[in-house]
This record gives sequence, C-alpha cells and structure tokens, in this order.
Amino acid sequence: MRKTKIICTLGPATEKTETLRQLIEKGADVFRLNMSHAKRGWVRAIVPRIRKLADELARPVGILLDTQGPAIRTGDLKHDLHLKTGDILEFTVRGAKSREKYSVGVNYDGLVEDVTVGDPVLVDNGLIKLVVLEKKTNRVRCKVLTPATLGSRRHINLPGVHVNLPPLTKKDIADVRLGAELGADFIALSFVREESDIEELRRLLARKKSKALIVAKIEDQAAVQSIEQIIKSADVIMVARGDLGIECPMEELPIIQRRIVKSCIRLGKPVVVATQLLESMITNPLPTRAEITDVANAVFEQADAIMLSGETTIGRYPVECVQVLNRVAERIERSGGAGYAEAAILEDARQKTVASAVVLANSLRQAKMIVFTRHGTMARNVSNLRPEHAPIFAFTPSEEVRRQLSILWGVWPVQLEFTEDPNATIEAAEKFLREKKLAAPGDQLVIISDVRAGESLVDCVQLRTAK
Ligand code: PEP
Repeated sequence: MRKTKIICTLGPATEKTETLRQLIEKGADVFRLNMSHAKRGWVRAIVPRIRKLADELARPVGILLDTQGPAIRTGDLKHDLHLKTGDILEFTVRGAKSREKYSVGVNYDGLVEDVTVGDPVLVDNGLIKLVVLEKKTNRVRCKVLTPATLGSRRHINLPGVHVNLPPLTKKDIADVRLGAELGADFIALSFVREESDIEELRRLLARKKSKALIVAKIEDQAAVQSIEQIIKSADVIMVARGDLGIECPMEELPIIQRRIVKSCIRLGKPVVVATQLLESMITNPLPTRAEITDVANAVFEQADAIMLSGETTIGRYPVECVQVLNRVAERIERSGGAGYAEAAILEDARQKTVASAVVLANSLRQAKMIVFTRHGTMARNVSNLRPEHAPIFAFTPSEEVRRQLSILWGVWPVQLEFTEDPNATIEAAEKFLREKKLAAPGDQLVIISDVRAGESLVDCVQLRTAK
C-alpha cells in the first residue's frame, strides 16, 4: 500500500475515458484541472466523467481545480520572434505601439510601474532572460540576454518584484465559481503572497457554499517569506517548483522544498511537491536516474503527494509515469522516511490522543490504524504523524470528506454511515476490512473513535485483534 499520493494534471494526453481509467487503476489519487490552459466547457464535461469512473472503480478520486492566479502573460503574436543576445524587445501595455523591431503586448498595465531599470525579466519558464533598460509611459525596453524564440501568450516572471495584481483576477473568480458549482474537492490559489489572499478565496468559497479545501501554491519569494502564516491559513500547501525555480535562485530550491515540507508537517498541514518530477517522460518511456532520485527525495521527505503536470497533460507516456511514481514511492517508503513528524506540534487533546495511538501502532507488528472522522480532522492528525508501518483506514460518513482525504499521506479513505452506537460503527468498519481483505485475522487494530461516556461522546484509543 503506497502512502505517498499521486496527483495527475489532465490535458489532451489523458482526457479519454480509457486513459482516465488506466490512470486511476495504476494509482492516481487526485486529478488536477489547470485553469491556465483548461477551457471551462472542457472542465464542465470532464468532471462528471471523472466522478462516474471513480464510482465504477470504487475509488475516492479527488478533483483539484487550479486557478491561473495573478500571472503576467505576453499577448498574441502574428509570428514567433527569433531573438538573439543583445536584441531589444519592448513590452507594451494599454495597446501602445512600439517602434522597435521586436515587441509584444502584455496583459498587465502595471508592468511599467512595477519594474525598475536593471531588473531581470524572465519569459517562458525562464527560458528567455532579459534585463530592463528603460521605462516609458506604456513601454518597457529590455535587452535580450539569452537567444530564444518567443511565441504567443508566454508567462512572464519578475523575480522579487511585488506585482500589484489582485490575488484573484476576474478569470480566477469565474473559475472558482465553476469549481464550486461542479463540487471540486480542492481549489488551488496560484501565486499566494500572504495570508489575506487565502482569506479572500475562503470568503468567495463560503459565498458559493463550497467546502473545497484551499491549496496555497508557493511559487515566489513573497510566499517563501510569509510561509508560516500561509501554512497556518491554508488547508494544503503546494511547493510549485515550476515558478518557484524561476522566482528564486535555483540552488535555493531544494532547501526551500525541504523547509516547506518540514514546516507543513510541524504545523499539521498536508503538502504537495509539484512539477518536473518526470519531465523527460513527456517524450521518453523511461525516466532519467536524476528524476528517480528527485521523486525518491520527495517521498523520503514524506510529502503527502507528488504531482505530475506536463507528463500527463501533453506527455506521450502518462500512464507509465504513474507506474513509475508508484514503483519508486513504494520502494522508498519501505526504506524509511526523514522523520519530520517527530517535530509535529501537538496543540489540542485530540492531537495528543492521536499521538498516543501512533506510538502504540509503531510498537506493534502488523498493526493497522482505523480512524473515524466526520470532517477529516482526526484522519489528518493521524496522517500528519506519519505512522511507521501501519496503514491508516479512515472511515467517514461523508462522500465529500472521503474525496478530500485522497490527498493525505498513508490514508485509505472509506465511506461508512456512522450509527448511534460507536461500537456498532467499529464492527461495521472491521467487517468492511475483513471482506475487502484489507485486514487479516490476528492483525492488531489500533482504533481511534468516539465512545459513549454517559450522555457524551469522548475520543478513545482501543487495541483490538482482528477476527
Ligand atoms: C508550478 O509552477 O510548479 C505550478 C504547479 O504551477 P503552474 O503549473 O500553474 O505554473
């Protein structure tokens, strides 16, 4: 049973029902819909198909709708621009005309105010490097530092610059509305800069009566600086290494990743490591040794989930990518983890109760943990402590919570109606595990549930032997 969860971004390479089925069968836990590229009509059509397939396969597949966020992009070009070192490229705003040989419009009018002469400008995933030479009212003149070809609608990064775009653009708000309407389980907020960005999305979700969990994507220096507050405020954190690797010095990236994973586990929030895990498999059937080691590192750090992007949106080998992640994760998990959970902060009585259950499970051979969770909190508490061997079977009456548990490290989510009598619910869970051959007679079951104490219910840890 693999503990590290797998997120697959969907796109043209994976939209067919048969491919979606294979991804689920091979181990995809969450599907991501990337609103930087996906059209709303496509999202509307694919969500019910995913739900139907997940039902057929009896798998709790989560859906993550990822907003584009306050991203700066170049506009449309009639022809690609073939840029050489030393060429001048002018970015124009408000439809201004340029007299330069090479120029392109930009979707953000504040660009001129935000940049300073001498600032670096990185375009198209950092492939095109420029420096700002001069600013005019509606134009920014830049010198090309690396030869490259510029196509239409490329992403612009301004490392270290505070971009004055709102945390949720008009497009994002419309996309979040769609996510709420379709019942997305997770909504990712791109380019989160501070806590208040997350609060704004939370208010929007509440207005739309959506219970989606908020995934804060950490992709620039501002977010790294406010990381503790962002972790506390969000429901899930994503180390979005694509943009982060451009916005921050590249040699800092592994350190930032490790720091974020460690802090998330310390503060009890799930964390996703994303982007370029198996980049070469977009075109090749096998990963590089370096990619295997990168995946192994994220698994060793005990991130909750690892995420595929281009590999499964446009790649030639999407199903094989899931197989590779599955294989590497299972093997590395057997070899042990970094143990960051030792520093997990146990604030309330429920977390402390869960910690005692994890100590008990770690001391037993063949232990299985069973947790009953209405809102997912107790399951998250167990998962966050990263039990050494025991799988975590999380029973919840809510289908929605079951899908949200799909992202948590080591958690096997099951939907089960809870009865008035907690003992009857425990017996129903044991029966389920027996019938599905998930527990064998003689297994030690460490159970975290309510028990009745007079008129009230209290949290309790029990050790039982599976019948
Ligand atoms: C990233 O930058 O790593 C990322 C996941 O975000 P996006 O794919 O939206 O650029």
